[in-house]
Amino acid sequence: MKSLSLKIDLHVHTCYSPDAVTTLKEVITYSKKRGLDGVAITDHDTLAGALKLQNSDLIVISGIEITTLSGHLLALNVTTPIPPKLDINETIQRIHEAGGIAVAPHPTLFYKSAPSRQTASYDAIEVINSAAIPFRLFTYLNQKLAARLSLPQTAGSDSHYGPEIGAAYTVIEADPDVDEIVRAIKKGATTPVGKSIPWRMRLKGKALSLKRKI
Ligand SMILES: [Zn+2]
Ligand SMILES: [Zn+2]
Repeated sequence: MKSLSLKIDLHVHTCYSPDAVTTLKEVITYSKKRGLDGVAITDHDTLAGALKLQNSDLIVISGIEITTLSGHLLALNVTTPIPPKLDINETIQRIHEAGGIAVAPHPTLFYKSAPSRQTASYDAIEVINSAAIPFRLFTYLNQKLAARLSLPQTAGSDSHYGPEIGAAYTVIEADPDVDEIVRAIKKGATTPVGKSIPWRMRLKGKALSLKRKI
């Protein structure tokens, strides 16, 4: 069977992250609106939202954005919780034991919690992160890093607000099955695509997120 070119936003937060406002229903609505085949739900240190979204016609990769001792780390295709605040290498090992892959999100961003660049055991590098500012500079630096480490390249919106979903996505040559997709990412059958989240949308999302916290 010939594999498809699937468009998957590999970094999506939902209201199960304390700083995000997107409901699970909105994940589906906006993913379809943006023409995505699927998303990876990567809430901060929780799988709760990801596991609840499994029964939709969208491809949903359950993931976590784990807070390690040296920055954030994306675990994709895990269904068991991985504890935060562990050494990054131990976290990667636990992700692999759980059957998942470890992707370094926003690896060169100094103001977000960028993961350590000294670790070579990532399975892929997120080169496009739509929330990064300045977008072009960080995309360039991330691409250089991925090339230096000879690792596959991914893209994700890092959306915290529904309309931001799909601002970036990874085109993955694979059959529409989560295990196949993850294998394809590991093999590097990926093309990162995307742009920065527009300012107006960004501000609206931030305002809603603040309102949520009050
Ligand atoms: Zn992050
Ligand atoms: Zn994130």
